Amino acid sequence: MILKTKLLLFTSACLFLLIVPLNLLALKQNQSVVIDNKTGDFPLQQVTSFDEYKETYISLNDFAVKTGYGIYTNESRQKSVLYVGSDKATFTANNTYVILNDHTYQLLYIPLWKDSELWVPVNMMVDLFNNHTAQRFDFDSREKILTIGHSDVNLTSIGIEAKDNGTLIKVASSKKFTSNDISLKVTNGWLHIDVYGGKIHAESAKRVKTAGVVSEIDVIEFDQLVSLAFKLKKKIISKELVIENDSNNFYVNLRTNEKVEADQQAQIELEKQKQEWLIKTIIIDAGHGGKDPGAIGYGGLKEKDITLAVALKLGQIISKNLPGTKVIYTRDTDVFIPLWQRTKIANESKGNLFVSLHCNSNNNKHVSGVETYFLSADKDKNLQAQEVVLTENASIKFEKAEDQKRYEGINFILATMAQSAFIRQSQYLASVIQNSFARNLKPVGIKDRGVKQGRFWVMVGATMPNVLIEMGFISNKAESQFLKKQASQMKVAESVFEAIMKYKKDIESAI
Ligand SMILES: [Zn+2]
Repeated sequence: MILKTKLLLFTSACLFLLIVPLNLLALKQNQSVVIDNKTGDFPLQQVTSFDEYKETYISLNDFAVKTGYGIYTNESRQKSVLYVGSDKATFTANNTYVILNDHTYQLLYIPLWKDSELWVPVNMMVDLFNNHTAQRFDFDSREKILTIGHSDVNLTSIGIEAKDNGTLIKVASSKKFTSNDISLKVTNGWLHIDVYGGKIHAESAKRVKTAGVVSEIDVIEFDQLVSLAFKLKKKIISKELVIENDSNNFYVNLRTNEKVEADQQAQIELEKQKQEWLIKTIIIDAGHGGKDPGAIGYGGLKEKDITLAVALKLGQIISKNLPGTKVIYTRDTDVFIPLWQRTKIANESKGNLFVSLHCNSNNNKHVSGVETYFLSADKDKNLQAQEVVLTENASIKFEKAEDQKRYEGINFILATMAQSAFIRQSQYLASVIQNSFARNLKPVGIKDRGVKQGRFWVMVGATMPNVLIEMGFISNKAESQFLKKQASQMKVAESVFEAIMKYKKDIESAI
């Protein structure tokens, strides 16, 4: 590796060509990749590289030497193991499979063996580490700069231990969190530890070994907080958050002591939780209204009229069939209600379920079908629904300027935080509704467009499971004619009711 030391002197490709000894040109299209290190562990470095198949390959050995990462190479097997922090990746020449932390992943481009060492495509390595580890790499293919960033992960590990009288969940952190940043909630058999400002590598967290009362781990990530969810095998008597004084770490103590008096206390706690989860009040939200007509469809049909008609029918069916269940409408006449007020009504009525009814619209008049949304926790998955989200959220333009401010910045974050415990139920309800549509509406020619995720203002802030139903496209001639008919509105309402019944039965029997 004479090459390595010489390359350190070069600052640009031009300069490189001028002074490079001819024999070095023998190594095909020799270049270098600059390693820009944001972690501060080592200065700017250059690593030898070449381009092939339109990909930039770097010498894995040189990369490891310059960054200080560990490497072990088996020359006879043309295999190298790279150690980055606690992550370990095994690359093999001419093999599309890489083993990262005991999991096998397939690559688009293969590592190559040249001059007795292994060369890997930089883009592939960056994707691999970014997607499956807490490392943060970024590669600028044009400038050939590989940036090694500070990982934004601050919750570095989770440990679960079974104790005599309960279970201890330990969270190691690189950032000091206070009790104001962390909230604990037990809902429907899951403990949620919401950490405001917390970032975790979800995939690693979900692989943590469970113990004691915890049977499963899930992670729900938001922009500003992370919700660590732990499925509980049995009831807990108490939960206690302890933040260590001499470190950033914190732990949650779950007590499951089954002494007689504790049992009684647990019974009371369980009964309380049960009561909270019974579906006693259902909020029906007819989209738009008054000065906000919603989408205008085929033949001038207004979304606000269809949503109100179906809402009232749904309410009547619920009241008739479930006399013990209270129905609250956010509106039962043709009036304008701001979006924020709809969730306020729902929360103040202590609703257990929030169903928002809407009709879809599209410039392409052929688009048709029904779809159900739940609030998205994931930014990327939003893209599919972006257009629908923008259209429905546009309702705020009918609201007063000071009201519109409610939807900015921090309000959204705090409201989303309150939702984390309900996302699982919302998703379940959405799937049950779509199944019911598929059963009842498909036979009459209405397409099932499935369950989707979206960030609808009307759903943000509801402290209960909630969904938004797009009951077909009023921009489509056939669907607009369908939705206009009383009998069809009844059919849609009955389908939603059937789903609510199933959801209610499943949720309540699981409590
Ligand atoms: Zn709408």
